[in-house]
Amino acid sequence: MSQTEGPGLIDNSAAPPIAPGDNPLLEEWTTSAGVPPFSRIAAEHFLPAYVKALAEHVTEIAAIAADPAPPTFGNTIAALELSGRALDRIDNVFHLLAGAHTDDALLEVERAIAPQIARHWNQIHTNFALFRRIDTVMRGADELGLDAEQKRVVERYYTSFRRAGAALGNVAKRRFAEIMERLAALGTAFSQNVLADEQAFALRLEGDAELAGLPDSIRESLRSEGNERGLDGYAVTLSRSTVEPFLQFSDRRDLREKVFRGFVMRGDNGGSTDNKAIIAEMVRLRAERAQLLGYADFAHYRLDDAMAKSPAAVRGLLEVVWRPARVSALAHRDAMQALIQEDGGNFKLEPWDWRYYAEKLRQRVCDFDETAIKPYLSVDRMIEAAFYAAGRLFGLTFTPRPEVAVWHPDVRAWQVSGSDGKEIGLFFGDYFARTSKRSGAWMASLREQQKLSGDITPLIVNVCNFAKAPAGETTLLSFEDARTLFHEFGHALHGLLSSVTYPMIAGTNVATDFVELPSQLFEHWLEQPELLRRFALHYQTGAPMPEQLLTRLLAARNFNKGFATVEYIACAETDLDLHALPPPKPDDPAVDARAFEAASLARIGMPDEIVMRHRLPHFAHIFAGGGYAAGYYSYMWSEVLDADAFAAFEETGDIFDPATAKRLRDYVYAAGGRQDPAEAYKAFRGRLPTADALLRKRGLAALAAVN
Ligand SMILES: [Zn+2]
Repeated sequence: MSQTEGPGLIDNSAAPPIAPGDNPLLEEWTTSAGVPPFSRIAAEHFLPAYVKALAEHVTEIAAIAADPAPPTFGNTIAALELSGRALDRIDNVFHLLAGAHTDDALLEVERAIAPQIARHWNQIHTNFALFRRIDTVMRGADELGLDAEQKRVVERYYTSFRRAGAALGNVAKRRFAEIMERLAALGTAFSQNVLADEQAFALRLEGDAELAGLPDSIRESLRSEGNERGLDGYAVTLSRSTVEPFLQFSDRRDLREKVFRGFVMRGDNGGSTDNKAIIAEMVRLRAERAQLLGYADFAHYRLDDAMAKSPAAVRGLLEVVWRPARVSALAHRDAMQALIQEDGGNFKLEPWDWRYYAEKLRQRVCDFDETAIKPYLSVDRMIEAAFYAAGRLFGLTFTPRPEVAVWHPDVRAWQVSGSDGKEIGLFFGDYFARTSKRSGAWMASLREQQKLSGDITPLIVNVCNFAKAPAGETTLLSFEDARTLFHEFGHALHGLLSSVTYPMIAGTNVATDFVELPSQLFEHWLEQPELLRRFALHYQTGAPMPEQLLTRLLAARNFNKGFATVEYIACAETDLDLHALPPPKPDDPAVDARAFEAASLARIGMPDEIVMRHRLPHFAHIFAGGGYAAGYYSYMWSEVLDADAFAAFEETGDIFDPATAKRLRDYVYAAGGRQDPAEAYKAFRGRLPTADALLRKRGLAALAAVN
């Protein structure tokens, strides 16, 4: 049984008739390692497969709930863990394709299936007979002689059922079900609207004048974006790894403004793809859901099951970091304004100018030019670098497996083996941007590790949106792109190294404010001279990055950190504010996302020249599904942990210190949700972390001290 949101029967009327024998989703996958036969899977296979898998799961659940034997761990919890495997399998393939390689037919399946899946899971979570059995096992854990991992699994079942409404009375349950189903449909519509706005935008650039200031590597990727859209020539599209470098380098202030407006207005353009009404409804429904469960608001509900425990704890951390970050950003702004005046510009710095003048200032202050770095950061070398760090820390080796089935020709697969040579899983890298892929970067599982039904190895995917070089040429990354690659690879290691018995607590099934620890921690190794000297090699000559450039790169990494911190915290604060709204009374007006955003930003003193990293109308983290709702702060919460955790290596004088790496593997990367997150951290580090290492890491420690 999967831990994701999601019971009930599918309305089969829309599904075309497909004989079971013809549907690859319903077969045993006998390909190597049980990889789905992607080349044979088509959109029309999903609905009939879902119908069958959901019905199967309903039967399994009914049998567990109606078991006449007294509840035991085996006949209740283990049985639940073993149920719904077919559904999981189909769901994993579907979600991967819906995010990484979608089309109109898959988008339609997504709209049809999301509310039905929500209904299905809701029926399971509100099955009172089932909940009573879980409750009995939970209370009798000691008498039943459960081991520590089993106790934790029961506790997670109990908590997730209670939080999903299992203990509610019948009327409340019905309302709860309606809410969950509606939220699922709204989340799907939200992300499809953002994708539609992204697909609709392409700014063609013609002639040298429109390309002014853009380095060759960026021109190349714009040409490839143009080709991908079927346009002859260069085009700027709305993926972050295209927009940010364009804003950083384009000399054309008018074009920067156009691209910037396109990017920040995604989901906010009026018309059929506008997300503001969806946001208002989702916020209202989430508040009502929290209220049904006895919480003051959604943020309190959400944080109750997180490491942070309360909104106050989160606000406390954000405030400690916000003040110095804002001071730093404002000083930076003033320096850029002075630069504009000096250059004879007679205008006020605007948000679309920030990255451009920050780059100019960086070149001047740090004597460091971002474009000088790129030739040393080829995507293949950076993948190798990530594999190398995983090898040194955890003894892993990665062997290309070109014969393994994939969903797009750009995707690559590797077999991952441990130091004893034993295969621990497969890793898939889907690194390049394309129109069939939603924006952002993420990790996904096609299959999670577990030992309950045999020694099941994980199939783990990284999806990124790096601008691809034209055929035959080398794709070069910015340092930020390389950081994203390492970040997602850190999540992948959390999935790959998982070593638990029960699916409920495998891999990344941990608290959302703990799940970014393995990913953000891994970014630290990218910044180590030892690693860069070995892997940052010029893509044409193979020469290592000159020492002077390397020193400047590392010295410049905190440059503009005030800005990055401000654009991030603005999102975390607005997310919390929005989810701290009490359930509305019948006459309350709907939340106006734009006005709400403005008020939140005014409250914290957001500088006019900086825009939230994700404005509400395209804030997929919190609206496309509920993953990070009232949880966007998690990145910074986890950063407190990752900064402090990396210091554990630094303190030994060896960034690959074997004893520290072993503890890190045992208590973090391999442990899944076996322990409470604070306990797990303490077991690794010997104590809980403080924010000091984070402030140092962001170069804000001195400002925090004087302010
Ligand atoms: Zn992450």
